[in-house]
Amino acid sequence: MADNTYDVIVIGGGAVGEVLAERVVKRGLSAAIIEAELLGGECSYWACMPSKALLRSGEALRAAKNVEGATEAVTGELDVAAVLARRDSFTNNWDDSNQREWANGAGITVLKGRARLVGPKRMVVRMNDSGDGDGAERTLEARHAVAACVGSFPRIPDIPGLREVRPWTSRDATSAKEAPRRLAVIGAGPVGSELAQAWNDLGSQVTLLVAGDRMLPTLEPFAGEYVAKAHVEAGIDVRTGVTVQSVTRLAGTGGGEGDEGPISIQTDQGEIVVDQILAATGREPSTGDLGLETVGLEPGTWLDVDDSCRVNGVEGGWLYSAGDTNHRALFTHQGKYQARICGDAIAARAQGEHAAPVAWSPYAATADHGAVPAVVFTDPEVAMVGLTEQAAIDQGITVRVAEYEIGNVAGASLYADGYTGHAKLVVDQERLVPVGFTAVGPGAGDLLHAATVAVVGEVPLDRLWHAVPAYPTVSEVWLRLLETYGM
Ligand SMILES: Cc1cc2nc3c(=O)[nH]c(=O)nc-3n(C[C@H](O)[C@H](O)[C@H](O)COP(=O)(O)OP(=O)(O)OC[C@H]3O[C@@H](n4cnc5c(N)ncnc54)[C@H](O)[C@@H]3O)c2cc1C
Repeated sequence: MADNTYDVIVIGGGAVGEVLAERVVKRGLSAAIIEAELLGGECSYWACMPSKALLRSGEALRAAKNVEGATEAVTGELDVAAVLARRDSFTNNWDDSNQREWANGAGITVLKGRARLVGPKRMVVRMNDSGDGDGAERTLEARHAVAACVGSFPRIPDIPGLREVRPWTSRDATSAKEAPRRLAVIGAGPVGSELAQAWNDLGSQVTLLVAGDRMLPTLEPFAGEYVAKAHVEAGIDVRTGVTVQSVTRLAGTGGGEGDEGPISIQTDQGEIVVDQILAATGREPSTGDLGLETVGLEPGTWLDVDDSCRVNGVEGGWLYSAGDTNHRALFTHQGKYQARICGDAIAARAQGEHAAPVAWSPYAATADHGAVPAVVFTDPEVAMVGLTEQAAIDQGITVRVAEYEIGNVAGASLYADGYTGHAKLVVDQERLVPVGFTAVGPGAGDLLHAATVAVVGEVPLDRLWHAVPAYPTVSEVWLRLLETYGM
């Protein structure tokens, strides 16, 4: 008879749920993952991996074109079919058998189906028709903890007619097999900014519709300005301050089934006609059908957790949530960090320890609060960690900033002819420690971990002064920032 009781049950086998299950198994507990779709989740099949695969070839081509001597060797254009095939290989053709093999080897039980809580530590799983199950239902029970790592899904804004034209979401835009001739992207956060570039590189004529006055609105203003300039130079039609009013499908050519006409987008700046729309306008929590009401929580909401990722307001403290679902930081790396912390806290508590989520202890995801690193993989890249200047001011921190043109660093001029980029260090003026760093420029993502270490370690500037960047690397921008600061 199938086992229906596990020490820990993880609902949702995305990157985050996988790490959490692995962590508790390593600490001696039994764990099952319930996954409704593909083990590996959004990141592996419809987000990080395919989007970066779509972006990388264009970036590599531009990088070669930007170095004299190499540029002469570039005689052709992107091979779109090869880029798409490379993308497909990174998603393993949307086949999760490798991940299932990994889980097996890690001692994790994987059940393919959709789980719904029916009370404390209990859930009903409707098994998938294909794969392990037969469409039947199984009731499972956790001895110690349930972790809801169900992720998020794309939000489609409430624009009249938009849903009816079945816009692309990030899932379609990362898995499409051909480039639409004309593509409108609504939203210029990281997802819209990256995918606008990817499909522009792959041959679509892209219009990027930005509601506010700049791209990447939550980052330092210069980040969006650099990316917008590069997008425009690459041929993307970037329109700021636009309100999309309505969307309609125009008549097709009458060529029969599948013959859809183009899409008309009415905006306050006039009409735009395209063949496809990508809605890149944020995420919603995948908790609508999770049975949260049976444990006293509101369905369809983000789960509010403490620093050990234990869900607040649940009697007995058996419910945890890591990754997108808790809305602390919607990145794979940060969700996996939470999963390590959360898994350790669950295991410690199962062994009778209190495992208090004291700041910077193994049981607290403290970095979520002011030390989250992020890279926007546009060309130029944007890399940031911690607080922007404005966010620091909003938190009441007395700040002083130092800024520097990265192109003036010897390593940058070697890296690419005419390197343009900008870096900014935000310093807490009272404690004299860095609280934020943003860099924009080719390859800026690789400058980031030094910044993350400095912010997490709250490294005083007078000690940072002794961290000497190797010559001639782009990291010499660190020295220049400190000099600009006055050291
Ligand atoms: C286009 C795009 C690009 C991105 N690029 C990056 C990047 O470069 N770097 C980065 O760090 N982040 C990136 N992100 C964000 C990143 O993808 C997410 O933060 C990450 O996937 C979240 O992982 P998760 O495990 O929390 O959720 P998910 O990956 O969404 O996994 C949740 C899983 O739960 C399953 N599930 C849901 N409900 C149930 C249920 N009731 N029963 C059983 N299973 C269920 C789902 O099928 C899914 O597999 C990107 C996002 C997008 C959209």
